[in-house]
Amino acid sequence: MLNYKNTIFFFIILLIVIICADIIFSVSFVFYVIPFFILISLLAYGSASIQSQFYIRSFCCAETKNKHIALSFDDGPDEFVTPRLLELLKNYQIKAAFFCIGEKAEKLPELIKQIDLEGHIIGSHSYTHHYWFDLFSAQHMEEDLRKTDAAIKKIINKKINWFRPPYGVTNPPLAKVINRMQYFVIGWSLKSKDTTISNRQKLMNRLINNFKPGDIILFHDNQPHIIEVLDNFIKFAIEKKYTFIRPDQLLNIEAYE
Ligand SMILES: [Zn+2]
Repeated sequence: MLNYKNTIFFFIILLIVIICADIIFSVSFVFYVIPFFILISLLAYGSASIQSQFYIRSFCCAETKNKHIALSFDDGPDEFVTPRLLELLKNYQIKAAFFCIGEKAEKLPELIKQIDLEGHIIGSHSYTHHYWFDLFSAQHMEEDLRKTDAAIKKIINKKINWFRPPYGVTNPPLAKVINRMQYFVIGWSLKSKDTTISNRQKLMNRLINNFKPGDIILFHDNQPHIIEVLDNFIKFAIEKKYTFIRPDQLLNIEAYE
C-alpha cells in the first residue's frame, strides 16, 4: 500500500542508487530532479486526499452492498443553520454525525446538547479550524485538539473518539498527534461541495449522480442552502430504497470513549 513510510523508504533507496550510478557513470541531473518532483507530488497528494490514507488510517465509507448511507456535517454548530437541520433530520428520523469546531461549541452549548440529545454523533473538527492548522507543530495541534475535547466533554460529558481534520488535510505532525491521542479519523467518500456550489439544482444533481451504498456524505451545517437540497436528496434516496444510517453504526466504530 502506498503510504508515507514506504514512499520515503523507496525514495531513499532510489537516491542511494542514483548517487552510486552518478559516482560510477556520472548521470545527468535529470535523474535527481524527476524523482524529487514525483516525491513532492506524492506527498502533496497524500496531504490533500484523506481517502488516500497516506499519512493516517482514515475511515471514509463502508464496504457494503446494502443501500445504506450516512450524513456528516462539518464546521458547526451554527446558530441559524444547525437548528433547521436538526428539525429536518428529526422529521425523517435520521441520525447523523456533526464534526464541531470547539470554540463554536463553547459559544453554543445548548445546540451541542440538542445534537447529542437527539441521538446524533459529535466529533472534533479542531478548536478554531485555523486556516494554517496543517502547518501547526505537533504540540500545537495536540493542544488544539485537547481544548476541543475538553470543550465538548464539559457540555455533553462524553469523551469524543472521532476527529475530522480541518480541510481534510493530513500530514506527519497530525499523524503523530492522532496516534498519541488515539482518535479515529473519519473522512468521507462523497463531498457535496456545498461550500463552493451555491446553485441548489447543481448541488442536488451532484449528489444524486454520485451517491452509492456505504457512502459517508460531507456537508457543512453553516451553509443555509443545504436545508432545501438535503430535504430533496433525502426524499430521492428514500424513493431509491436507501436507508440513512448513523455513521458510527455504518462504520461500526465507537464515537465515544
Ligand atoms: Zn471544515
